[in-house]
Amino acid sequence: MSRPIFRFAPSPNGHLHLGHAFSALLNARMAAEVAGRFLVRIEDTDETRSRQELVTAIFEDLTWLGLQWEQPVRIQSEHFPEYQSNLHRLWNMGAVYPCFCSRKEALGKALPIQDPDGQPHYGGTCRLLSPAEVNGRILRGDTHGWRIDMERAGDDAAAIWGDTMIAKRHVGSSYHIAVVTDDALQGITHVVRGMDIEPSTALHKLLQRLLGLPTPHYHHHELIRDAAGNKLSKSLASTSLRELRQKGTTAGDIRERLGFSGSEV
Ligand code: GLU
Repeated sequence: MSRPIFRFAPSPNGHLHLGHAFSALLNARMAAEVAGRFLVRIEDTDETRSRQELVTAIFEDLTWLGLQWEQPVRIQSEHFPEYQSNLHRLWNMGAVYPCFCSRKEALGKALPIQDPDGQPHYGGTCRLLSPAEVNGRILRGDTHGWRIDMERAGDDAAAIWGDTMIAKRHVGSSYHIAVVTDDALQGITHVVRGMDIEPSTALHKLLQRLLGLPTPHYHHHELIRDAAGNKLSKSLASTSLRELRQKGTTAGDIRERLGFSGSEV
């Protein structure tokens, strides 16, 4: 049997904090417990927010924590054509449609239902455009994103998202398509991530079904607590690892605080 594969997949739009440390340590420990593999993946498809110096800082912080991961690291911004190709497959099967609405237009015709991110469900204006109109507008170069056609998908679990945007303007991808493409391509067997991302899992499972990709095991961990099981204060939880390091906190202190002392990874 092939070895289980785990991954820690941060987005380089801020420095890692204790919550990231917990997730990374947990993935590495779970991988070690089953003699599995541990990968790090950089999720930088949001080019407006991602910064190269933060990628370097992520590697530094993870090394400081004592983690080791396989090389080379997959950097999503180097793989846009692969995500676009999956987006095209979804378009060919009628699972997604281009949306030309500005943010304001979309909000103006939104439905009175909120998705898990607190955004109202899209009203579906662009779903009703004729193929001729869509082609005309695309040929004209009108900017557009891509929305999933949730009614057509008929997926009760993912319906909480409505016709959510799965690929942004100018980019041709999004976190959602990139994550399912890469999890499949890298053979990820176990996705271990925070409860805050749990609602996205229904969407990821839907994309996997549509694209014929395997569905890994999902485990959503509690947001961090200290070794005694108490919730950390918000300010401590959001303090960056480098700030803690500058204040004299050691990697050992962090492991202990997060319940990983004595752990091999
Ligand atoms: N890149 C996401 C984040 O930093 C995590 C994605 C995932 O683990 O699937 O929030």
